[in-house]
Amino acid sequence: MFSVSLDLPEFEVVKQVFLEDCSLLHVEKNTTEERCSYCGFFSSHVHDWRTRKVRDLSVLGKPLFLFVRVYRYRCHNCNEVFSQTFESISPNKHQTNRYREYLYEMCIGSTIQEVSRKEKIPYTTVERIFYSVAKEKEKEHLETLESVLENNELILILDEIAVRKGHRYETVLMDTQSGSVLGMEHQRSYRSTQILLAKKILSDKCVHTVVMDMWDPFHKAVKSIFPEACIVIDKYHVVQKVTHALDQVRKKTPGLKKGRFKLLKGSEKLTANEKQQLDEMLKEHSELSYAYFLKELFREIYQVNDYDTADSLLEEWIQLAWSSPFPSFHQVAKTIENWKAQILQYFLTPFTNGRIEGTNHKIKNIKRRAFGFRNLERFRLRVFLECTGKTYKNQVA
Ligand SMILES: [Zn+2]
Repeated sequence: MFSVSLDLPEFEVVKQVFLEDCSLLHVEKNTTEERCSYCGFFSSHVHDWRTRKVRDLSVLGKPLFLFVRVYRYRCHNCNEVFSQTFESISPNKHQTNRYREYLYEMCIGSTIQEVSRKEKIPYTTVERIFYSVAKEKEKEHLETLESVLENNELILILDEIAVRKGHRYETVLMDTQSGSVLGMEHQRSYRSTQILLAKKILSDKCVHTVVMDMWDPFHKAVKSIFPEACIVIDKYHVVQKVTHALDQVRKKTPGLKKGRFKLLKGSEKLTANEKQQLDEMLKEHSELSYAYFLKELFREIYQVNDYDTADSLLEEWIQLAWSSPFPSFHQVAKTIENWKAQILQYFLTPFTNGRIEGTNHKIKNIKRRAFGFRNLERFRLRVFLECTGKTYKNQVA
């Protein structure tokens, strides 16, 4: 006769029933005594029993239900009545622990809706299970993170992501070496950044460098929590500001609605054909070519490897921007002057964006999958679990 290997050593299978749409296994614990939950003495005096129906991992594509006989014992020592407990089933749960884990894993990289449909379980049940397992996982991840981060020289990065249309932002704190997300907080304020940085897993000793955007609240918050940490402005954000200044000039130039892409893209990424079109465009609008030249010149600064050359090139660039006729470039020149030290720090810090880009990509995917997270806590939890846990496991492995 066909039989199922349950692989849960604490149980003994008493009876198996195979139905068209599911399988039922009657099981009971293979011990005859139990430790009293009140006083700790062992008892084998059965008081009564009842049956619990618990869902387990599917077998051959069919749901499997366990009918678990649960004995209650009377304690000889304290005379209390207590229930059997199980390693593979938590108290008051209608699924085995391994099935709950399985549902959780299915939800990672998919949606609750999808899992609910596949497993034929109500949405709200899958949702409840997912977030309850996720909470436990979060604890585990934090412990792993703590041990990995300890005594490491960290280069952290503060970034922002728009979580909803209309610019609602979340601040994300990541570790650049592993690409893992250490935490998320609402808004981009001084206070929320402080909360992120004050995490128990971070200490003065390990936080060496914080990479960020030219955003005053970030800067002030880092200074208040890690006064010794070195602050670096990320290349990406500076170049973005300069590109934006060029775009402002384009917008004020009549007849240039279509040229945006060619102008803003790095010149080395253009095809021969696009380059030719760009040349023609710049010839036609000579005032624009100055702005374009400023943008490309700025990008070239980042090709340099040593601090001193970068310093003098940047100074030169600031002068050129000031002497240009464009208010948008005057604005950028001013901003860059204000943040010059931190911008140049980039040339002294060995950090790469590679892992962070991967993580940002993952966050975007999570956002897309669960369009409209009404509950931001849950969004953060998902990001933490998918971008931290997995990354770290890969890292450690
Ligand atoms: Zn007792």
